[in-house]
Amino acid sequence: MTERTVLALGGNALLKPEQTGTFQQQLDNARKSIQAIDGLLKNGQEVVLTHGNGPQVGNILNKNRSTEGATPPMPLFACGAQSQGLIGFMLQLAFEQEFRGRDSDRSCVPIVTPVTVDSDSDAFENPTKPVGPFYSEEEAKTMIESEGVSMIEDAGRGWRRVVPSPEPAEIHGVDTVNSILENQNVPVVAGGGGIPITATDDDGPTGANAVVDKDLTGATLADQIDAQTYVILTDVSHVALNYGEPDQVDLEKISTDEARKYQDEHFERGSMYEKIEAACQFVDGYSDRRAVITSLQNATEAVTEDVGTTIYDDQP
Ligand code: ADP
Ligand code: MG
Repeated sequence: MTERTVLALGGNALLKPEQTGTFQQQLDNARKSIQAIDGLLKNGQEVVLTHGNGPQVGNILNKNRSTEGATPPMPLFACGAQSQGLIGFMLQLAFEQEFRGRDSDRSCVPIVTPVTVDSDSDAFENPTKPVGPFYSEEEAKTMIESEGVSMIEDAGRGWRRVVPSPEPAEIHGVDTVNSILENQNVPVVAGGGGIPITATDDDGPTGANAVVDKDLTGATLADQIDAQTYVILTDVSHVALNYGEPDQVDLEKISTDEARKYQDEHFERGSMYEKIEAACQFVDGYSDRRAVITSLQNATEAVTEDVGTTIYDDQP
């Protein structure tokens, strides 16, 4: 049976913290990501790509502000859509340059993907997710007053806008994803956690100013398309206990029960906590599913071997 795998590319796979984010820098990174999954693509695996968009959406928000007065700023969900289009295109171009043509007829097909979130979610009353650039206290206070946005002081580094981060309820376009896979092509789906929309009774869906966690969206996507494997590719090879401490212990294989036991004490919110949560949500109740958290370099091996940290469900 063909294995179906969802691969989530972390922010670093496309834009490194020390880079400014020129098109060429991002395309070069995208090419490295495609090289890393070359083995999967060559052996006919069904592969779905999803990705983060933090640095890219930060740059778009920055531009919104610096061109204020000349060009109307786009709402946050529209910035998410812009970033999906850009990153999807870069992955497609990288795929064409690195893989197709030389090795196969498979194509990479980016899909602009909305994700439904619950408009009654408590997340809308309690914005928690920092997005975009850092500001001085003075700038932040002006923005709070004039734009009505929520801002917080972020760990001594400056002030940042915070936005609601509701759970993903439904990924749109799953039938299309399935048919792209059946044709042996590689869809790029729900980047940046998907474009958040809420369902309304009369007028159809509407954009929501929120950011859905990309790892949780990836888990929902993997569930909806019945993948066997969900691989979260980030900048560490393993999930660890006592991360960054002298007594750090890398985890190789853990059950969902173990993972949840460690969650509050060992996994930082905003980074590893959500990845573990996403991995557990995907495998919970399925003995034939695996989730893997590892670095980009291990991407191809992660689908078949035990590399990085594997999370499985040990309930009968
Ligand atoms: P991504 O862009 O891939 O989503 P994140 O920065 O959100 O990356 O998450 C990966 C980071 O999580 C790692 O670089 C590491 O600093 C951090 N992290 C926090 N807790 C842990 C842990 N227990 N084990 C490993 N990494 C951890
Ligand atoms: Mg992250």
